[in-house]
Amino acid sequence: MKKEKNTEENNLMEKIVSLCKRRGFIFQGSEIYGGLAGTFDWGHFGVALKNNIKQAWWKRFVDGRRDMYGVDAAILMRQEVWQKSGHVAGFADPMVECDKCKKKFRADQLEDTKKCADCGGKLGAVMKFNMMFATKVGASDDSSATSYLRPETAQGMFVNFKNTVDAFHPRLPFGMAQIGKAFRNEITPRDFLFRAREFEQMEIEYFTREGDWEKYFEYWKDEMLEWMEEVGIDMAKVHELEVPKEDRAHYSSRTVDFEFDFPFGKKELFGIAYRTDFDLKNHELDYVDEEESKKITPHVIEPTFGVDRAVLAILLSAYAEDEKEGEVRSFLKFKPSIAPVICAVSPLLKNKPELVEYANTKVYAPLKAEFGRVAWDDNGNIGKRYRRQDEIGTPFCIVVDFDTLTDNSVTVRDRDTGKQERVKVADLRNYIKEKIN
Ligand code: ATP
Repeated sequence: MKKEKNTEENNLMEKIVSLCKRRGFIFQGSEIYGGLAGTFDWGHFGVALKNNIKQAWWKRFVDGRRDMYGVDAAILMRQEVWQKSGHVAGFADPMVECDKCKKKFRADQLEDTKKCADCGGKLGAVMKFNMMFATKVGASDDSSATSYLRPETAQGMFVNFKNTVDAFHPRLPFGMAQIGKAFRNEITPRDFLFRAREFEQMEIEYFTREGDWEKYFEYWKDEMLEWMEEVGIDMAKVHELEVPKEDRAHYSSRTVDFEFDFPFGKKELFGIAYRTDFDLKNHELDYVDEEESKKITPHVIEPTFGVDRAVLAILLSAYAEDEKEGEVRSFLKFKPSIAPVICAVSPLLKNKPELVEYANTKVYAPLKAEFGRVAWDDNGNIGKRYRRQDEIGTPFCIVVDFDTLTDNSVTVRDRDTGKQERVKVADLRNYIKEKIN
């Protein structure tokens, strides 16, 4: 029984990975040279999906609030940042190496820590492996030139805490928010986007008085759950895990992970941590609290979202199969607000200039100008176009036919139900706007 399920779930991952490649969402990084493990290149629809997710996040947590300040810090940061933050000393995973085949494994992910799962050879002692990518800045080669690609976006906010306070004079509680790349030299990148070496994070550092941390921890937990639902993550597959002390990051006094039922197991999707005053204290930063008329070090609640894991969870939540006209079809039930293409426009026949002209000038061009993420699709017959758009997750396919030329209406076909309705061309804009909201 278990075996069957595993096969089914492995198949699901294979289907998603292959759909992502076939339809131009996500490719293996450096693919034509054999691939670079843990890196991915994003194609046209993947970028669109990712941008929509990031925009939904920014809209809710930055633009939608009065107490949040956006940041876009440099990826390269001085080594002092990572010394003070504890990452140089402590951002390491336990690693073991096989004596025989020399393959390296993450020790805490192994069932058998003595025997190599690949070749049966003997595994060596557990070592600590620091996951930061080090590089040299400038032409000098001494150790003072060492810099690190950030392994988390968080420090980019802490080191700009003073700048933000001086520029905007925010009152507690307030937050800083950032979306950007993070890099971790993972020992075993795997499970597609789940464990990559280069990925993106969306993070908030929310500064409060010490006495308020529990209240805001609960508040942000709820906010995170609401956002997950908003972007179409299947909430039946999301579980909260109170992370025990021994598993928490070095800076955290409380962590709750939001786990997701991935096909390869229940694993961390996002997390929220109470970082106390650990980081601001280490960077020797403080804040003048006007209410208490004294200098204090604010405490920090950190809701963290991985963009790539969000994309994977959304793909897995949206993927569906059913039967249409005696054939199995696969489709992505993206929410209209997130879908990379909101609608595709087709002339019924591509060799009829009057249909092409109408579809192009009266339907496609105005919708494209309004929504941007509009596709022109006249390839193959209508059935083929629908299947293709279903796999891209396009909620609406609009077809211009011969009746359109006289009644100025088009057929709008719904991705999930396959139902078609006639909509006046003049009403299309509002029709789609309503669906997005
Ligand atoms: P894990 O235990 O899975 O290695 P973590 O606890 O180290 O993850 P955090 O340090 O809490 O992860 O990172 C914050 C978020 O960044 C995670 O919730 C996840 O969404 C994302 N993330 C972390 N590591 C990776 C990775 N290697 N690839 C993709 N996303 C990642």
